[in-house]
Amino acid sequence: MEKIIVANWKMNPQSLLEAKELFNSVRNWIKKNSNILQNVRIIICPPFVYLESLSKLLKTKSSRPKVELGAQDLFWEEKGAFTGEVSPKMLKNLGVKYVIVGHSERRQILGETEEMINKKLKAAIKMKIKPILCIGETLKERKKEKIFQILKHQLREGLRNLEPRTYNLKSLIIAYEPVWAIGTGNPCKPGDARKVLLFLRKFTQPLSHSSTQPLILYGGSVNSKIAKDYIEVGFDGLLVGGASLNSNEFIEIIKNVAKH
Ligand code: PEP
Repeated sequence: MEKIIVANWKMNPQSLLEAKELFNSVRNWIKKNSNILQNVRIIICPPFVYLESLSKLLKTKSSRPKVELGAQDLFWEEKGAFTGEVSPKMLKNLGVKYVIVGHSERRQILGETEEMINKKLKAAIKMKIKPILCIGETLKERKKEKIFQILKHQLREGLRNLEPRTYNLKSLIIAYEPVWAIGTGNPCKPGDARKVLLFLRKFTQPLSHSSTQPLILYGGSVNSKIAKDYIEVGFDGLLVGGASLNSNEFIEIIKNVAKH
């Protein structure tokens, strides 16, 4: 089955030149090695301001390797007086195919609520942009053994009223990202992540009215040494933050996932 690797560049790099360099080095490697990448899809999520330029770079290359663009967020309204926000259609018009929704940094730093996340998911699906819904527990919640309770709550509220009949949940991707593992260099042990994966597979089973289940990714301090461990325990792919800003390291992650 195809594996997905999502690069979340967060608020990096600081110039378009650097963004293009990073994008091109990954993309050129992928182009040269497309024979070993039959089962891997790479989604790069740069800051909004680089999307247009990177989208043009994608269009200029003739043979289309499996790289696609994602955004790190979107707004739920179609248009109007929403200073600073970016609409689903604006993203669609730039060729954006995926969007990260509910990243823990947005939940924690910017106060994004389950209600906002729910609206964003609906807006993305309506625009046929595939949402990557991020969920995960904090360290405090883990210590109190509340992991499943928290994840259930995030899924129930995030997906509220997203009936499979109205919203095509086939396009939904879920990223399990324990908050304590993000950007800390302290990844969740693959065996522990697997327990959560099994819970998520069971919990999301009724979401789909067809046989297709949402894809489930792991994210949180992934590097090239441990990337394959999460694939081995059954995840459909990875969400990579810090390590995606170093092209060599990111390419190593892709190589290791492609071997499985
Ligand atoms: C992320 O940004 O979602 C993430 C997982 O970051 P990192 O890989 O740096 O922990």
